[in-house]
Amino acid sequence: MPRRDEDGAVDSDRTRHDLHADRESARERDRADPLSEFRQRFEIPDAHYAAGNSLGPISDAAEASLQRAIDQWRDLAVRGWTEAEPPWFWYGERLGEQLAPVVGAEPAEVVVANSTTVNIHTLIGTFLDGCGRDDPTGVLVNELDFPTDHYAIRAQLRQRELDPDAHLHVVESRDGRTIRTDDVVAAMDAHDVGIVFMPSVLYRSGQLLDVEAITAAAHERGILAGFDLAHSIGVVPHQLSEIGVDFAVWCSYKYLNAGPGAVAGLYVNERHFDETPALAGWWGHEKGTQFEMNLEYTPAAGAGAWQSGTIPVFSAAPLFGALELVNEAGIEAIRQKSIALTSYLIALADDRLADRGVAVGTPREPARRGGHVALEHPEAGRLSEALRDHGVIVDYRPPNVIRVAPSPLYTSFEAVFDVVDLLAELLADRRYEAYDAESEVT
Ligand SMILES: *Cc1c(COP(=O)(O)O)cnc(C)c1O
Repeated sequence: MPRRDEDGAVDSDRTRHDLHADRESARERDRADPLSEFRQRFEIPDAHYAAGNSLGPISDAAEASLQRAIDQWRDLAVRGWTEAEPPWFWYGERLGEQLAPVVGAEPAEVVVANSTTVNIHTLIGTFLDGCGRDDPTGVLVNELDFPTDHYAIRAQLRQRELDPDAHLHVVESRDGRTIRTDDVVAAMDAHDVGIVFMPSVLYRSGQLLDVEAITAAAHERGILAGFDLAHSIGVVPHQLSEIGVDFAVWCSYKYLNAGPGAVAGLYVNERHFDETPALAGWWGHEKGTQFEMNLEYTPAAGAGAWQSGTIPVFSAAPLFGALELVNEAGIEAIRQKSIALTSYLIALADDRLADRGVAVGTPREPARRGGHVALEHPEAGRLSEALRDHGVIVDYRPPNVIRVAPSPLYTSFEAVFDVVDLLAELLADRRYEAYDAESEVT
């Protein structure tokens, strides 16, 4: 029997038989998925969790590494700094070593420290200072950035008595969804730019920017290239060293699944190890002599120098377990499955949601997409509420975007089918009209 909505229109002429066949084909994909077993390692409180680009769920491994740190606090107290396994004193560096393959860098170029926002402060500050007095001091960003990036950069400019309105250059979007590489490159020429700082993946539309092309164009012009990897770390592989990216930052609580407020990470290319960190602190001191408590600061010989104060051990510990899973699965395999999931989601949306007014706001070429898909509809707010009420967690970005993130380690193809099926139903019978559009904090 075809399903009909109130107006008697048929849901894309789909029969129950068709839907059954579609679900079977999703299950077929799940049977062929080499990562399907990882799902059992996660604890997910809802029927379907598609907000992992906002906050990833807990895994058995992350919970175990957090529990280990708690046990070591009980058993070792202050001796935990040196006798815990791994010693708390070295947490930032040890986690950096495990993250190095995820971002394609040398172990010494990566450290886990601070929050993403603080890492933007310290790295932008460092490289503004590193630019000589006569060098260009403008910073190039884009208008679809996550706001904290602009707040931090403007503050760093102000601290150097550089007027942010004159020195922060903002590349505009032509379509409100994406940023063109040629526009970024043209802006490098048009302005007094010393640093280009771009996201790898735009947080709303999910566009993956061309990190390599932007870095190459910047370097041709003597400009430094930094990136915010918050929306790609753990789901898109990077080759930061090979490409020669100058610096990068990211958070650990999105696709890395290390928990709310988990300690963030940063990368500094080894050719910049002699720069002086803008937010210097004793945790970035050369480790061998840190406890000699010299008033003269000797920065560590590596990215570790950009740590500031004592690492929050319990906010870093879950990352050990979370990274075990990422490295066990392999970042390349994660990316492959991610592309398969988002391609499937886009195909289903075109097939079943387009005629109900849903547009796909994410680039269709897999190479230009991160891990999530933006579905646009004027009733995105009420639809998101209705989805939540039916056990499907997505996040809503006003005024019209539903972000659906099928995170590869714990999302099945059948789950993607279910989410689209539910959306099709909600749109067909207009059940979402019973909900209030609330802007959720996610
Ligand atoms: C999530 C996110 C942040 C978050 O910064 P915090 O300091 O962890 O709050 C920053 N930038 C981007 C692009 C993000 O997506």
